[in-house]
Amino acid sequence: MVRILPVPHDANSSFLPGTADGPEPILAQESLGSANVYSSTLRPIRVDEDYRVLPPVEVRHLAGKEAFEVIKHRVISELAAGSGPLLALGGDHSITYPILAAYAQHGLRVHVLQLDAHGDLYHDLDGNPYSHGSPFARLLENNLIASLTQVGIRSLTPHQREQASRYQVRIIEMKQLDQAWIRDLRHPLYLSLDLDLLDPAFAPGISHYEPGGMTSRQLLDILEALPTLAGADLVEYNPSRDIQGMTAMVAYRAMKEIICKLVEQNG
Ligand code: MN
Ligand code: MN
Repeated sequence: MVRILPVPHDANSSFLPGTADGPEPILAQESLGSANVYSSTLRPIRVDEDYRVLPPVEVRHLAGKEAFEVIKHRVISELAAGSGPLLALGGDHSITYPILAAYAQHGLRVHVLQLDAHGDLYHDLDGNPYSHGSPFARLLENNLIASLTQVGIRSLTPHQREQASRYQVRIIEMKQLDQAWIRDLRHPLYLSLDLDLLDPAFAPGISHYEPGGMTSRQLLDILEALPTLAGADLVEYNPSRDIQGMTAMVAYRAMKEIICKLVEQNG
């Protein structure tokens, strides 16, 4: 059974707070009545049958290194408990650094597929090396992941391009999007899904609007085409910016598809 780990942490958001309140509305979609429990594969995905929700990591009022230590230690203990793959629900994207540091310490140096409007490769953002704009810089410079493939990017700066070439990051920009890269993904594969990948028209409940993104359909097609996953996170849902919970519903749908990919491998 897949284990959902809520990580209510937004201390490293550079623009707006709010993602700490993200996990709950996404998880609430299943019981809201209008939600269809079926996934693309016509398999129903239900709480307490296909996934269960773990108690949230207690990081709501922590910041900086202290918060990351708490996240890392929790993930290490959940991996050690070993009762099914993990899907972390953010929270801002900074949490992917302590999460994957935990995977590495557990002996899982994963290949990462990052679906995002942004590269998140800044050495630091506004002086904060733990920013949600920097998790992949930290992971790569500390050699904690085996490779990084970024898809959907549409906000590269010269500095981020430099970082990408330094760390041999494969980038499929939004303007050159196809699905050919999927066959090059390697295992163990970890998916890090930043909801701002989607065009703000489809997912307004995010902090950083970056026009020109994917449709919900394009995201679902990618998720369906992915190979099996060893772990995943879904980040950057900001309910304070959402309209009628529409982004929470998109996130819930993505969550179901991700659960299918985690279940495939791990039963
Ligand atoms: Mn991101
Ligand atoms: Mn982003």
